[in-house]
Amino acid sequence: MDYNVDEKGYYGEFGGAWIPEMMYANIEELRLRYLDIIHSEEFIEEFIHLLKNYVGRPSPLYFAKRLSEHYDTKIYLKREDLNHTGSHKLNNTVGQILLAQKLGKTRIIAETGAGQHGVATATVCALKGVQCVVYMGALDVERQAPNVKKMKMLGAEVIPVHSGNKTLKDATNEAMRDWINNPVHTHYIIGSVVGPHPYPDMVARFQAVISKELKVQLAEQTGNELPTRIIACVGGGSNAAGAFYHFLENKEVELIGVEAAGKGVDTDETAATLKVGSPGVLHSSKTMLMQNKDGQITEPYSISAGLDYPGIGPMHAHLFKSGRAKYLYATDKEVLEAALLLTQKEGIIPALESAHALAALNQLEFNENDVTVINLSGRGDKDMQTYLDYFGY
Ligand SMILES: *Cc1c(COP(=O)(O)O)cnc(C)c1O
Repeated sequence: MDYNVDEKGYYGEFGGAWIPEMMYANIEELRLRYLDIIHSEEFIEEFIHLLKNYVGRPSPLYFAKRLSEHYDTKIYLKREDLNHTGSHKLNNTVGQILLAQKLGKTRIIAETGAGQHGVATATVCALKGVQCVVYMGALDVERQAPNVKKMKMLGAEVIPVHSGNKTLKDATNEAMRDWINNPVHTHYIIGSVVGPHPYPDMVARFQAVISKELKVQLAEQTGNELPTRIIACVGGGSNAAGAFYHFLENKEVELIGVEAAGKGVDTDETAATLKVGSPGVLHSSKTMLMQNKDGQITEPYSISAGLDYPGIGPMHAHLFKSGRAKYLYATDKEVLEAALLLTQKEGIIPALESAHALAALNQLEFNENDVTVINLSGRGDKDMQTYLDYFGY
């Protein structure tokens, strides 16, 4: 069984590039050139340089002593929250801006929901002095004002999208429309392991630096590069793909993704795609998605904006179907409690997204000597208002 992408851009039955003809030229250029570019010496040298000196990598692997005592086992945190801009997202945008420059592109477009990917994209555009346009649902522009201000200060143009539900899906449609109209000088930076091939593979390769570092750090700290299990939250699935990547063939390592159950998987307010979804095509990729019986996408819900997506990357659909990875889910309430536990046991306030991975600890049984790695995808600054409202500080 192959767990990674094949030559045609498929993970088992999932993936591919289900694109309209008008997008063919853009995707074909990318597909034909991305591997040569990202394997070139020049690219690798600059990517490594920026990851080290701009993003702040390697991110630490931290043994969480008091949290480990609480669960009577060994828990390590991969500290993606310590990256510049506060999450794993910059690993991908740094890779894609370098790729765009090698392709000779002078204009960048992106979609964003919560604004985290928009900020990460605007950041690398400022770094490189490249024009940046971010599409964002009009409702999200209102809900995520601090990130909109950051993008503007970074020099990006933020375009509110008034169609549909005025959220992420509509912003994505608008970004694709822009790309079709501007095929020559524009590169579209997608923010997760979703969309048509080669995006899922390309983003996974940029995020794979997480698991590459993990192997070295685990060997140093535990004497074994293989942990018992790795747990990561899953929206589109890029931080999880990065944390799993170099362990896919190490079958003794248990891989666990955690989706957002929202108010519960038996309510209408959920984002647990693998639990309630079915196969279909979303954003030009065959994958699992949340849809009604007519095949219309249903609106997802999660307290964490970064997991509020009705699909999942095709790699995860395949890891789920093949059984290589296991997928759990956590409700808003479980997640808030898990965030508080980490905060008070370790002095680390996690992003709401990352707290889904922490909440899964309550659903597992541990041996004392198990080594569990949690990919702590981001920090909680952006979620302070939600925490304060819930806990009433
Ligand atoms: C965006 C985001 C996620 C979800 O995206 P994935 O592609 O599933 O990783 C998770 N954690 C944080 C902190 C985020 O900002």
